[in-house]
Amino acid sequence: MGTAVNDRMLDGRAAVVTELIGSVAGLIGDQADGWDLAGELPRELLSKLGAQGVLCAQVPVQYGGLGLSSAANGELTAHMGSLCGSVRSVMTSQGMGAWAIQRLGSAEQRASFLPRLAEGALIAVGFSETNAGSDLSGMATRIRGDGDEVLVDGRKVWTTAARYADLLVIFGRYRDGATAVVVPADAPGVTLTRVANPSGCRAAGHADVVLDGVRLPAANVLGGAGLSLPLVVTAALTYGRMSVAWGCVGILRACLRAATEHVVTRTQFGKRLAEHQLVSQHVAELLVGEQTATRVCEHASSCWDSGSTQVMVNAVLAKYVSSREAAKGSARAVQLLASAAAHDGHVIARAYRDAKLMEIIEGTTEICQLILAQHAREQAWR
Ligand code: FAD
Repeated sequence: MGTAVNDRMLDGRAAVVTELIGSVAGLIGDQADGWDLAGELPRELLSKLGAQGVLCAQVPVQYGGLGLSSAANGELTAHMGSLCGSVRSVMTSQGMGAWAIQRLGSAEQRASFLPRLAEGALIAVGFSETNAGSDLSGMATRIRGDGDEVLVDGRKVWTTAARYADLLVIFGRYRDGATAVVVPADAPGVTLTRVANPSGCRAAGHADVVLDGVRLPAANVLGGAGLSLPLVVTAALTYGRMSVAWGCVGILRACLRAATEHVVTRTQFGKRLAEHQLVSQHVAELLVGEQTATRVCEHASSCWDSGSTQVMVNAVLAKYVSSREAAKGSARAVQLLASAAAHDGHVIARAYRDAKLMEIIEGTTEICQLILAQHAREQAWR
């Protein structure tokens, strides 16, 4: 139990992960609340984390990445999530962008883009549009061939990390299907507008992205062909769901740390809060939430690492359970600390705001329920 890195789960990579966790903790320290209030992460921090390969740690060694397993990267993501939800959000975007290239790209595209990401170039991923949120079949962004080039036109909303990104993975309609294209963030025709005052993960660099006649080499179209939209989107989202789920484990661990410290130090009615049974119930439920989320994430990661065909549904399950537990657990933590946590700039206030948004991104709670219900119907339970 707890945050100790489990050597068996990490397939011998525990020492590497422990070292990375130490380095990340040193870089972030207790600065996350300040960044959250400012709505901005220091570029120097992102450069350092990027150069360490921490932000997309599953990129294979052959492309210059750390080559971590999903389980090892999960523990790293949880640790990041316990320190700073905004940096963890950037990490999710970076890992998802890298995974989209690895999964959908050709050998040449992998060799061209992945080393840049492993060295610290930042990437953001745009699926969502004003009229395509939960229902991505409403996507209107078009990628059109024009000789050796393509033209990209569309508008993406809420693209996490776009304000820090060097590259964007943009999903859109292509030929008679869909694809994703790698777009330099400074390409002519790309305009970013900051999302004003997000309620959580405030320093994660969210932006709306307009693509107006953006002209790119056709070699930037991942895979080079039109594919089915659900296939293209699910490939990238599965990574994103795993990452968000592990990030929620981190939120729960941060809540447990702050809540347990508080209940053993504050006294009311002549005894420590921890000695009041109703307070203990909250602490116990918080622990149950953290452990439940950890177990479903570990299971999803083991599916990923073993190449199981069940990875997609288990990533949805992990994201659903972990985000729900994080939202409930952070609300319990607010209750436990009461006025002590009732102001921005407090780790628990930040956890509460960040956790709620985790029930929205990478497939809302309801969309996860629909996918899980469909899976249940397709199983032979008899
Ligand atoms: P809607 O789809 O309009 O949903 C509204 C409500 O209706 C929800 O409760 C939803 O569950 C429910 N609903 C919709 N359809 C159904 C249904 N069939 N059955 C039951 N309930 C339904 N997008 C990106 O592309 N890249 C990013 O990096 C990114 N980062 C984000 C970061 C944050 C902090 C946030 C808030 C959003 C981000 N998004 C990003 C957008 C995100 O993916 C969408 O917000 C999400 O998919 C939900 O879409 P929507 O907000 O349009 O809600």
